[in-house]
Amino acid sequence: MLGIELAGSDHSIEWSERRVLRTSHHIMLDTEETLRSEGTAYDDSVKRVERGYDLIRQVSTVEEVFTMLGDHGESQGPTSICRHAGPTSEAVTTMSYAIEIDYNTKSGRPRIVFHVAKGNPCQSKYVAIPIIFPADDEIMNRATQFYPY
Ligand SMILES: [Zn+2]
Repeated sequence: MLGIELAGSDHSIEWSERRVLRTSHHIMLDTEETLRSEGTAYDDSVKRVERGYDLIRQVSTVEEVFTMLGDHGESQGPTSICRHAGPTSEAVTTMSYAIEIDYNTKSGRPRIVFHVAKGNPCQSKYVAIPIIFPADDEIMNRATQFYPY
Protein backbone atom coordinates (compact mmCIF):
# COMPACT_ATOMS: atom_id res chain seq x y z
CA MET A 1 0.00 0.00 0.00
CA LEU A 2 1.17 3.48 -0.78
CA GLY A 3 -0.46 6.26 1.20
CA ILE A 4 0.02 9.84 0.13
CA GLU A 5 -1.19 12.67 2.33
CA LEU A 6 -1.36 16.23 1.15
CA ALA A 7 -1.99 19.34 3.25
CA GLY A 8 -1.33 22.64 1.56
CA SER A 9 2.23 22.37 0.24
CA ASP A 10 3.17 19.66 2.78
CA HIS A 11 3.12 15.92 2.03
CA SER A 12 3.84 12.56 3.63
CA ILE A 13 4.29 9.12 2.05
CA GLU A 14 3.53 5.79 3.72
CA TRP A 15 4.60 2.36 2.38
CA SER A 16 3.30 -1.11 3.17
CA GLU A 17 3.30 -4.46 1.36
CA ARG A 18 -0.33 -4.28 0.16
CA ARG A 19 -0.74 -3.24 -3.46
CA VAL A 20 -3.16 -0.46 -2.64
CA LEU A 21 -2.80 3.27 -2.84
CA ARG A 22 -4.67 5.49 -0.43
CA THR A 23 -4.90 9.21 -0.11
CA SER A 24 -6.54 10.99 2.76
CA HIS A 25 -5.77 13.62 5.32
CA HIS A 26 -4.97 14.00 8.99
CA ILE A 27 -3.47 10.55 9.61
CA MET A 28 0.25 11.34 9.27
CA LEU A 29 0.30 15.09 8.85
CA ASP A 30 -0.61 17.37 11.72
CA THR A 31 -3.90 18.61 10.28
CA GLU A 32 -6.30 17.27 12.91
CA GLU A 33 -6.44 20.53 14.88
CA THR A 34 -7.05 22.54 11.73
CA LEU A 35 -9.92 20.26 10.71
CA ARG A 36 -11.36 20.27 14.24
CA SER A 37 -11.57 24.06 14.06
CA GLU A 38 -13.69 23.82 10.89
CA GLY A 39 -17.03 22.66 12.28
CA THR A 40 -17.62 18.98 11.47
CA ALA A 41 -14.70 18.71 9.00
CA TYR A 42 -12.69 16.31 11.17
CA ASP A 43 -15.61 14.01 12.05
CA ASP A 44 -16.74 14.03 8.40
CA SER A 45 -13.23 13.10 7.28
CA VAL A 46 -12.97 10.24 9.80
CA LYS A 47 -16.30 8.81 8.55
CA ARG A 48 -15.03 8.99 4.96
CA VAL A 49 -11.76 7.23 5.89
CA GLU A 50 -13.62 4.46 7.76
CA ARG A 51 -16.03 3.97 4.84
CA GLY A 52 -13.04 3.90 2.45
CA TYR A 53 -11.29 1.21 4.51
CA ASP A 54 -14.48 -0.89 4.54
CA LEU A 55 -14.90 -0.58 0.77
CA ILE A 56 -11.24 -1.07 -0.22
CA ARG A 57 -11.28 -4.57 1.28
CA GLN A 58 -13.82 -5.60 -1.37
CA VAL A 59 -12.07 -4.01 -4.36
CA SER A 60 -10.25 -6.22 -6.86
CA THR A 61 -10.67 -4.46 -10.23
CA VAL A 62 -10.14 -0.94 -11.55
CA GLU A 63 -13.87 -0.65 -12.23
CA GLU A 64 -14.54 -1.41 -8.56
CA VAL A 65 -12.12 1.38 -7.61
CA PHE A 66 -14.21 3.78 -9.69
CA THR A 67 -17.38 2.50 -8.00
CA MET A 68 -15.75 3.00 -4.59
CA LEU A 69 -14.70 6.56 -5.42
CA GLY A 70 -18.30 7.33 -6.45
CA ASP A 71 -19.75 5.78 -3.29
CA HIS A 72 -22.41 7.70 -1.34
CA GLY A 73 -22.84 5.21 1.52
CA GLU A 74 -26.14 5.84 3.26
CA SER A 75 -26.60 9.19 1.50
CA GLN A 76 -24.59 11.65 -0.55
CA GLY A 77 -23.19 14.53 1.46
CA PRO A 78 -20.14 15.71 3.43
CA THR A 79 -19.41 12.20 4.81
CA SER A 80 -19.72 10.22 1.56
CA ILE A 81 -16.59 9.13 -0.33
CA CYS A 82 -17.95 11.04 -3.34
CA ARG A 83 -18.31 14.21 -1.30
CA HIS A 84 -21.20 16.58 -1.85
CA ALA A 85 -22.18 19.76 -0.02
CA GLY A 86 -24.58 19.39 2.88
CA PRO A 87 -25.92 21.28 5.87
CA THR A 88 -22.56 21.02 7.70
CA SER A 89 -20.16 21.69 4.83
CA GLU A 90 -19.89 23.19 1.36
CA ALA A 91 -16.77 21.09 0.54
CA VAL A 92 -17.16 18.76 -2.44
CA THR A 93 -15.01 16.28 -4.34
CA THR A 94 -13.15 18.30 -6.96
CA MET A 95 -11.00 15.54 -8.47
CA SER A 96 -10.87 11.74 -8.24
CA TYR A 97 -8.06 9.59 -9.49
CA ALA A 98 -6.75 6.04 -9.58
CA ILE A 99 -3.40 4.81 -10.78
CA GLU A 100 -3.54 1.42 -12.52
CA ILE A 101 -0.30 -0.57 -12.67
CA ASP A 102 -0.34 -3.81 -14.69
CA TYR A 103 2.75 -5.98 -14.27
CA ASN A 104 1.45 -8.76 -16.56
CA THR A 105 2.84 -7.37 -19.79
CA LYS A 106 4.79 -9.09 -22.59
CA SER A 107 7.61 -6.56 -22.35
CA GLY A 108 8.03 -7.14 -18.62
CA ARG A 109 7.71 -3.41 -18.02
CA PRO A 110 4.63 -2.34 -16.08
CA ARG A 111 1.79 -0.63 -17.95
CA ILE A 112 0.75 2.45 -15.98
CA VAL A 113 -2.50 4.33 -16.56
CA PHE A 114 -3.53 7.41 -14.59
CA HIS A 115 -7.34 7.66 -14.42
CA VAL A 116 -8.72 11.05 -13.46
CA ALA A 117 -12.23 12.52 -13.22
CA LYS A 118 -12.95 16.19 -12.66
CA GLY A 119 -15.66 17.05 -10.16
CA ASN A 120 -17.82 14.46 -8.47
CA PRO A 121 -17.07 11.06 -10.04
CA CYS A 122 -20.77 10.13 -9.85
CA GLN A 123 -21.38 12.90 -12.37
CA SER A 124 -18.30 12.74 -14.57
CA LYS A 125 -16.27 10.25 -16.59
CA TYR A 126 -12.72 9.13 -15.93
CA VAL A 127 -10.07 10.04 -18.48
CA ALA A 128 -7.40 7.34 -18.93
CA ILE A 129 -3.90 8.81 -19.37
CA PRO A 130 -1.10 6.31 -20.13
CA ILE A 131 2.14 7.20 -18.35
CA ILE A 132 5.54 5.79 -19.32
CA PHE A 133 8.42 6.05 -16.86
CA PRO A 134 10.86 7.62 -16.96
CA ALA A 135 8.53 10.31 -18.28
CA ASP A 136 10.29 12.76 -20.58
CA ASP A 137 8.89 16.16 -21.63
CA GLU A 138 7.01 14.68 -24.61
CA ILE A 139 5.22 12.12 -22.41
CA MET A 140 4.37 14.76 -19.81
CA ASN A 141 3.12 17.19 -22.48
CA ARG A 142 0.85 14.47 -23.90
CA ALA A 143 -0.44 13.60 -20.42
CA THR A 144 -1.10 17.28 -19.73
CA GLN A 145 -3.22 17.55 -22.90
CA PHE A 146 -5.57 14.82 -21.65
CA TYR A 147 -5.76 16.08 -18.05
CA PRO A 148 -9.25 17.52 -17.32
CA TYR A 149 -8.48 20.88 -15.68
ZN1 LIG B 1 -21.51 11.78 -5.88
